[in-house]
Amino acid sequence: MPELPEIEVIKNLIYPFLKGYNITYSIVRNKKLKYLIPKEIIFINNQKIINVKRRGRYIILILQNNSIIIHLGMTGNLLIIKDNKKINKNDHIDLIIDNHIILRYSDIRKFGFWIWYNKNYKNNVFIKKLGPEPLTKSFNNLYLYKITQKKKIPIKVLLMMNEIVVGIGNIYSNESLFISKILPYRKANTLTFTEINILVKKIKYILYKSIKNGGTSICNYIDPYGKKGNFSKFLFVYKRNNKLCKICQTKIFKMIHRNRSTFFCSVCQI
Ligand SMILES: [Zn+2]
Repeated sequence: MPELPEIEVIKNLIYPFLKGYNITYSIVRNKKLKYLIPKEIIFINNQKIINVKRRGRYIILILQNNSIIIHLGMTGNLLIIKDNKKINKNDHIDLIIDNHIILRYSDIRKFGFWIWYNKNYKNNVFIKKLGPEPLTKSFNNLYLYKITQKKKIPIKVLLMMNEIVVGIGNIYSNESLFISKILPYRKANTLTFTEINILVKKIKYILYKSIKNGGTSICNYIDPYGKKGNFSKFLFVYKRNNKLCKICQTKIFKMIHRNRSTFFCSVCQI
């Protein structure tokens, strides 16, 4: 599943092709992804794109009076298409833009969704319940410490809760805990203020670094040009089980918890 860095990379790349241009019409080849595609999107006609934003893992196209809220689910991709010859069976939605490009939504597993909403997208039920953005000041050590003090769940599970902080999934929770030297299954309330301080800094660091490197392509993530992200080579633990720790040469462990794989080094992390 794409996490914050991948969605940010996508947003930054599609932005110059969309902002200020018009959606002339759409071609919807598959009317049902996770939810039905709203008729307003199927019959969209000459709508100006005022802005393109990201909130958590959502990409939002802001129109004059409405917004289109897009979630990529597990395997969704947004592509900038300049030459429309090849269409494959996973290409579900095209937005035809008046600068001769197509914004194409492709999704193998179809867990993504598109929502039509008024232009105050922040009031949408999915967006409203989201916690702070990890790369803003509202995600800070005092905020996280206050929350962790009250929770006995594993710190990794807590970091992946969107109502606490958005956009951190399995990749970046595993990686940020590794570079913070904290075991992922530690109960949140056992973390000291110093450890939280380090964790908050490292989360921001790793997300910035991944964005700079085009995100992580582990499953099928590609950017709007069809290019893979480069961050995979910087991973310390994620999907590196049985490989040697890059710091201490011990084997990386994998543990399945709540159906998610957790990766860690039993020497570097305490
Ligand atoms: Zn190690």
